[in-house]
Amino acid sequence: MTLLAEPPTAVTPTSSQRRLVDGYGRHISDLRISVTDRCNFRCVYCMPEEGMQWLKRETILSFDEIQRITRIAVGLGVDEVRLTGGEPTLRPGLPDLVARLAPLPLKSLSLTTNGFLLKQQAQPLAQAGLKRINVSLDTLQHDRFHQIARRRGLDEVLAGLEELERYPSIAPIKVNVVAMRDFTETEVVAFAELSRRKPYVIRFIEFMPLDADGNWQRERVLSGDEIKAIIERDFMPLVRVPAEPSSTSRRYTFADGIGEIGFINPVSQPFCGSCNRIRLTADGQLRTCLFSIDEWDLRGPLRSGASDADIADILLEAVSHKELKHKINEGEAFQRASRSMSQIGG
Ligand code: SF4
Repeated sequence: MTLLAEPPTAVTPTSSQRRLVDGYGRHISDLRISVTDRCNFRCVYCMPEEGMQWLKRETILSFDEIQRITRIAVGLGVDEVRLTGGEPTLRPGLPDLVARLAPLPLKSLSLTTNGFLLKQQAQPLAQAGLKRINVSLDTLQHDRFHQIARRRGLDEVLAGLEELERYPSIAPIKVNVVAMRDFTETEVVAFAELSRRKPYVIRFIEFMPLDADGNWQRERVLSGDEIKAIIERDFMPLVRVPAEPSSTSRRYTFADGIGEIGFINPVSQPFCGSCNRIRLTADGQLRTCLFSIDEWDLRGPLRSGASDADIADILLEAVSHKELKHKINEGEAFQRASRSMSQIGG
């Protein structure tokens, strides 16, 4: 199947060059799009063993609708798009969606995946124009993989990563490790070695209170600084690497420059001050923060004849109300998000 990138309809700059800027002066340029709430894993820090009440199919945005919202958002200053889930590779025709979005004037078009289906999908995704990828992988040991994901699949994920290496147009290849106390400590050195053996950027992400079971506990958070200390104690010293202002990751390499490690510390070192992200759920709701309580409906207006300008107005209005920050470290003030991670996407 040859994937021909569809010519996009021109990105219509909204009048007066309006831009997505929130009430704190943050420019919103990163749109995360969940294309499904379904997943083939049941990760303990995300979803209950029995799964979730899946969204009704008729509420899920079509590729036409996703492409239209993205085109309008690009006209308002978005230049980074990330496709997420649930598990996005479960969405039939995902490479077609990538091919529809790839011609837009984007700095980055990326995907977050658990990698289980990557061996089959790496080539069509590369052909379609995918530019970057984040693969979630929390352990390099089979039994512990099952302990976390409640599924077997380590070999498939590693094979998917290997397959990705055959498509240098998708770079960098990032591996996201959700760090949890009394689990990740014994994985750290193996992942550090992997970052030197393979062209994978390993990023450790602190455990956030977004699990559907509501079992998150602060004591289970293994901080980036603690992991860094383990690497420097048991492996090699790390050298800081400059990162983009809105980057969520604190980047490091080793003295000889081989390998890259990142720390994403939303709990111990929040980065909300430079947040440039908004999220679109699979059922067409706009979330201005991972921890939003409220959402802005785009699906309804889209399906009831709203014009591009109407949709743009909703995006601008939503962003003008974007939350300043999460309140995980503010005791009673912290309210859990109105959706869990698998229903929002990374
Ligand atoms: S918690 Fe909300 S404001 Fe903070 S970085 Fe994440 S999305 Fe942005």
